[in-house]
Amino acid sequence: MSLLVFQSVQEIKNHLPGLKSLGKTIGFVPTMGALHEGHASLLRAARRENDIVVLSIFVNPTQFGANEDLTKYPRTLEKDLEIARSAGVDIAFVPTPEEVFPKGWRSYIEIEELSSVLCGKFRPGHFRGVATVVYRLFQITIPTRAYFGRKDLQQVLVLKRMVQDLGLPVTVLSCKTLTDPDGLAMSSRNLFLSSEERKTSLVIPRALDSVVEKFHLGVVDHLDLIAKAKVEMAKESELKMQYLEIRSLPNLEKVGSKLVGPAAVFFAGFVGNTRLIDNRILISDSLGGDSAIDSFIF
Ligand code: AMP
Repeated sequence: MSLLVFQSVQEIKNHLPGLKSLGKTIGFVPTMGALHEGHASLLRAARRENDIVVLSIFVNPTQFGANEDLTKYPRTLEKDLEIARSAGVDIAFVPTPEEVFPKGWRSYIEIEELSSVLCGKFRPGHFRGVATVVYRLFQITIPTRAYFGRKDLQQVLVLKRMVQDLGLPVTVLSCKTLTDPDGLAMSSRNLFLSSEERKTSLVIPRALDSVVEKFHLGVVDHLDLIAKAKVEMAKESELKMQYLEIRSLPNLEKVGSKLVGPAAVFFAGFVGNTRLIDNRILISDSLGGDSAIDSFIF
């Protein structure tokens, strides 16, 4: 089936429920566009595992704070649709804000605690906006499975909690973070980095990898694990760190002085005017290592 591009909820409603009642499975990948290989990997996973693949491209105003980059967020629709075609997407849903949140919309979803730490602390209201739009998009696209990237690990955890608490009939799956050859996690916002800023940004994967390395050498002392990473990051005057923190999985609780159980190290900060995030999962080999990730993020 060639790519269908729908802009209205009605077009989707004319199409998807009929297919679902025929027993077709729907794989859904929500995005804000400016697609890159990381997004494409989610689309390919959805393609492998479902009969119908739906992509949404929607720069969600409710997840941006007043001083954030909503109006500047990159928009590359034609290229996005090309990527969607090559990944075998069936339907691209590209709505206007009014289509997703009709005039008079007053309902929001709050996931307590998970939403107020890490990025939630620095972006108040962000996860309320994310959860609400994802809930709304689930309502529109009635997915069997929905795919998210672990680059936004906190987002995955918030959404898994929402699906579990509200008993939504969808399986949330997470896919590994794709990086560029220089090690930087792919992100739509990387388009904003100058070549100097890009070089500065490379301290992020280096520092996070140093935490993983220590962890696999058997270090469990919390401060010791992140000490080197903090020093490396502090050397980069162009990097303005918001946080570098280890938190438990899946509830994002603070960890004590010693790491016990599954956890992840999370980073967020600005390089110039561009906000970047990344993380590494820390699961000891005795708990199954990286192959056990899925069992610990739910
Ligand atoms: P965004 O368009 O930034 O909202 O991202 C849409 C989805 O793509 C989210 O589930 C992200 O976690 C995921 N994603 C973004 N960057 C990457 C990446 N480098 N690797 C894998 N998934 C990603």
